[in-house]
Amino acid sequence: MTTAPPYDDLEFASPEALRALQLERLRATVAQAGRSAHYGQVFAERGLGPDSVESLADLQRFPLTTKQDLRDSYPYGFLAVPKGEVVRMHHSSGTTGLAAAVFHTAGDVEQWAHLVARCLHMVGLRKGDVFQNMMSYGLFTGGLGLHYGAEKLGAFVIPTGAGQSHRQIEFMRIFETAAIHIIPSYALALLGTFEEMGVNPRRDLFLRFAVGGAEPYTEGTRQRLRDAWGIPFYNCYGLSEMQGPGVAFECPEQQGLHLWEDSYIGEIIDPDTGDPLEEGAEGELVLTSLTREAMPLIRYRTRDVTSFLPGVCPCGRAHRRLARIQGRTDDMFIIRGVNVFPMQIERVLMSMPEVGTNYLIVLDREGYADRLTVKVEVTPRMFRGEVDELLALQERIAHALREETLVRPRVELVEPGTIPTREGKAVRVLDERRE
Ligand code: ADP
Ligand code: ZN
Repeated sequence: MTTAPPYDDLEFASPEALRALQLERLRATVAQAGRSAHYGQVFAERGLGPDSVESLADLQRFPLTTKQDLRDSYPYGFLAVPKGEVVRMHHSSGTTGLAAAVFHTAGDVEQWAHLVARCLHMVGLRKGDVFQNMMSYGLFTGGLGLHYGAEKLGAFVIPTGAGQSHRQIEFMRIFETAAIHIIPSYALALLGTFEEMGVNPRRDLFLRFAVGGAEPYTEGTRQRLRDAWGIPFYNCYGLSEMQGPGVAFECPEQQGLHLWEDSYIGEIIDPDTGDPLEEGAEGELVLTSLTREAMPLIRYRTRDVTSFLPGVCPCGRAHRRLARIQGRTDDMFIIRGVNVFPMQIERVLMSMPEVGTNYLIVLDREGYADRLTVKVEVTPRMFRGEVDELLALQERIAHALREETLVRPRVELVEPGTIPTREGKAVRVLDERRE
């Protein structure tokens, strides 16, 4: 059992209490969603409404909502309150070509901050702790989302935003930063900056933990980060359509992410058929918001691939846990007829200590055939070493990737720091097959 006091009454609610609350909130959400143009029409066509919900199983009577639906009724078709009630808008970056505007009432912003505060409190952030928020502010939810949650807890927040690596590290040292919020690929890239500056994060800084999210990363990457930075990295999941970060978060046990079930209902479906999968199976996460006012979403297809972990977390929280997110269904690429997720490649690479902190997957054509190339940065020591060691490593990586993905890639070993890094989410795949 955890020793930390609960942040609120619902954090340790019993499964029965959570289900009862979900049912009550689902009815209210259906009523609220029905006020939007989109759901108003969908419900009218199908004869659905709050009275259609007698038990949680009745959620299955409602159709799935897709990113394309958001797109089709862009910008206001999902707005369920008068425009005058909206206090803020966020907007997805459209990395997958489908951008969505997401609206918040004052109540939505308040509830979001509350959930983030619960997450941060769960892993030990307290009033007065210095919290450096290294995610970009603006339309992207990573900046403001964590900012308001940390402030609500009474933390001393430094809104550095993304980038300016030297200054980030200087700030951590001068202001004795206790916790950071950072994109994992950027946390890896900063290891090079630490070296450059002669700063050892384990010795010279005051950090207690990091929150890492906004993009998929493997357990191997997390372990590397933990070892190099000397602190735990807690996985934080969310998406703009559901608020942003803080939808699901790891507790100190770090065995999956607790989906806050007082605020969301999660389902796992088969991404091809849309059918619900049995408990524990891996598939696409579908979420229903339970408290959102401006833009409630019912059975929203996240495209994120994960599963619910069986059993109860040793921490005692009944909110069910999601497994580490593998990536999005649309991150998957097909090469020579085989489906590959970038995270399968990362898993192999990050298990090898000779591999550095960055990699890039390149898909192109050679004649009529698809070609898969994995560019891999090696560690500085490896780079200065013997050529036959490099050749042996190259072969080992190619072999291990073949085992993991069934496709033998070309492996190019490159100098540390030569694959471009980004301030935002990492781009792991460069697909040059379409001209
Ligand atoms: P965009 O669609 O512009 O990327 P968001 O910023 O809302 O918009 O991104 C949300 C998405 O980011 C999620 O659907 C998921 O794919 C990814 N994501 C967020 N947090 C995590 C995490 N901890 N692990 C894996 N993927 C994550
Ligand atoms: Zn737990």
